[in-house]
Amino acid sequence: MTPGVRAEGWRIRVRGQVQGVGFRPFIWQLAREMGLRGRVLNDAEGVLIEVAGPELAAFVAAIRDRAPLLARIDSVDYQEVTLDFPEAFEVAASGAAGAETRVTPDAATCPDCVAEINAPGRRQGYAFTNCTHCGPRFTILQGLPYDRARTTMAAFPICDACRAEYENPGDRRFHAQPVACPDCGPRIWLEPEDGGPIAGAVSCLQSVGILSVKGLGGFHLACDARAPAAVALLRARKRRPSKPFALMGTLEMIRAHCAVSEEEAALLRDPAAPIVLLRTQGAALPEAVAPGQAMLGWMLPYTPLHHLLVDAFGGPLVMTSGNLSGEPQVIGNAEAREKLGGFADAFLMHDRDIARRLDDSVERAHPPMVLRRARGRVPGTLPLPEGFGDAPQVVAYGGQMKAAICLVKNGQALLGHHLGELDEALTHDAFLAADADYAALFDHRPEIVACDPHPGYRATQHAHARGLPVEEVQHHHAHMAACMAENGWPLSGGRVAGIVLDGLGLGPDGTIWGGEVLLADYCGFERRGWLRPVVMPGGDMASREPWRNALAQLDAAGLGHAADEIFSARPLGLLRQAVRAGVNAPLTSSAGRLFDAFAAVLGFEAAQSYEGEAAMTLEARAVPGDVGAYPLGGVDGVIEAEPLWRAWARDRAAGVAPEVMAARFHAGLAQGFAARARALVESGEAAAVALSGGCFQNALLLEMTIAALGDLPVLIHRLVPANDGGLALGQAVVAAARAVSR
Ligand SMILES: [Zn+2]
Ligand SMILES: [Zn+2]
Repeated sequence: MTPGVRAEGWRIRVRGQVQGVGFRPFIWQLAREMGLRGRVLNDAEGVLIEVAGPELAAFVAAIRDRAPLLARIDSVDYQEVTLDFPEAFEVAASGAAGAETRVTPDAATCPDCVAEINAPGRRQGYAFTNCTHCGPRFTILQGLPYDRARTTMAAFPICDACRAEYENPGDRRFHAQPVACPDCGPRIWLEPEDGGPIAGAVSCLQSVGILSVKGLGGFHLACDARAPAAVALLRARKRRPSKPFALMGTLEMIRAHCAVSEEEAALLRDPAAPIVLLRTQGAALPEAVAPGQAMLGWMLPYTPLHHLLVDAFGGPLVMTSGNLSGEPQVIGNAEAREKLGGFADAFLMHDRDIARRLDDSVERAHPPMVLRRARGRVPGTLPLPEGFGDAPQVVAYGGQMKAAICLVKNGQALLGHHLGELDEALTHDAFLAADADYAALFDHRPEIVACDPHPGYRATQHAHARGLPVEEVQHHHAHMAACMAENGWPLSGGRVAGIVLDGLGLGPDGTIWGGEVLLADYCGFERRGWLRPVVMPGGDMASREPWRNALAQLDAAGLGHAADEIFSARPLGLLRQAVRAGVNAPLTSSAGRLFDAFAAVLGFEAAQSYEGEAAMTLEARAVPGDVGAYPLGGVDGVIEAEPLWRAWARDRAAGVAPEVMAARFHAGLAQGFAARARALVESGEAAAVALSGGCFQNALLLEMTIAALGDLPVLIHRLVPANDGGLALGQAVVAAARAVSR
């Protein structure tokens, strides 16, 4: 640090996602432009600026207005100071960087870098081009603070030309840790070798082959999305009958097959480059890409390698994660050869190691929601609402499905990446590894562990094995609290009416809940409405075979004869006997199972090969517009589905189209639950309504519920999944709230 002249000035503290995003060069350029002197540095709390000169207020305003692409500013505070300021403005050496130093998520290749790989120059065609506005971050990170030596780029000593860029504050690569060029950086190759790697990869795709591509957070399996034979081959090899495949293409390619609104285009172009669900329109892709679905999941090329591949191929690609069924995505080269060898005809490899497995995030723009939170979104943090500033450090372990870990520290919540289903041994291993990984990276020392009360969940078992105080948080209370927290609902904000429509979660009465109206604050809840419990014939089997739920629902509604007609080929007698004997027939108020049942009676699904398939098909097939609603009944807390089923039976007899019945079903649930929540707000017991649970990934249900709530204040999920992927955040804030309130 240059000693300087004593003067009065400001010390400015910037907090948020401000490290590793080109923030210091931005400040350096801004200060020079405005004729200021002083210094900028990174430290454990973020970015610290000491500055002297005229118009410091304008300087502070410009920090917010003109921040770099990847920066996210949580706060800018300043105080007046008298210090020795250098003659000019300089980027000072970083202070002792504590492990709290933020790491930013991985970011898609920026337009400048795309232009660079497409133009003559030393990085033309170079698959690892990046700068401070883009490139790998969390997926290459091995330790903190974030610098090249603690990333998987450490294996590639930087060349003189790259170092010059790295050290020049006026360069877009100033302190870009993964900066690289063909002389010093990673390289790509094709296995088996076939001409140049990109040309060979393209010829594999053109000959209806399956190509495995090493990406940012794991390997993908790719094929020509327009070739029915290629898509069918991939399904057969992956033994994945119907779960939709994700797609990759340029915006122009996407527009040939789907409608893309401005918001959707912006989301596709977001530095996070998530998979965005888009409505099909125009030329159809093979049905096998996403059987039965009206939406396709698309992402733009997000690494230089993807750009080179998609441009050379000239068409859209299926881009599905490279894994064995149920297992986590493959990240190592040797692992890929071993596990994906039976799926892929060729491998587009590279020699930069993936430090951390991250799946692609999945999102929707209308209405905005995150369905899977992973690459590009983690490790972004959420500021906790007012009242949580003094909360102790908490770690929360989520549920059994869509596992994710959440850390609370310093008034921030860090919801980790999507891990998958903990039933799978390798996913459970990944969960344990992620727990240790996040704790080390964020120097986290929890005082409290939060989890679901379900004793069978591996996450719950892990929580109790930690030897720390455990706070169990009821599944649907956690869903609702996650929604409140991401909406900034203050700790002292009063009670909220939660409509939680979900799959399965253990209730304190020992039955399985999932269609609930809760009156809750962060600390606790009352159950004020619930779908009348119905048996799940066969227990877990009922989640995979929707007709079982349909049988139970129809029998409960006195419509057993309809079940006899629709499911005549099924072993109904045996199942009814088992239900009467109470064998493997747990009770549930789950809205998810009600969705499954309704999809089954309409004949949309005989079985579901992935969770939520029947309900997704029901949503996809529902006609748009107002075609009426099936009524729900009930008095006091109980919400009866019987009137809904009777109205459906009349429609069925009258020959009403299944698509109309699907719409009436959605509207019925939306209006029935909205009425219960509205009553809690109008009586003054609740101040707002929160919508959460996996069923609210259904955009039609969400929109209809919001419409039915009219002008009431409504909290919905935007950044955190409404499904079990958001559970850990809710658990963490409930545990934190209880600790603060004690
Ligand atoms: Zn860039
Ligand atoms: Zn270089």
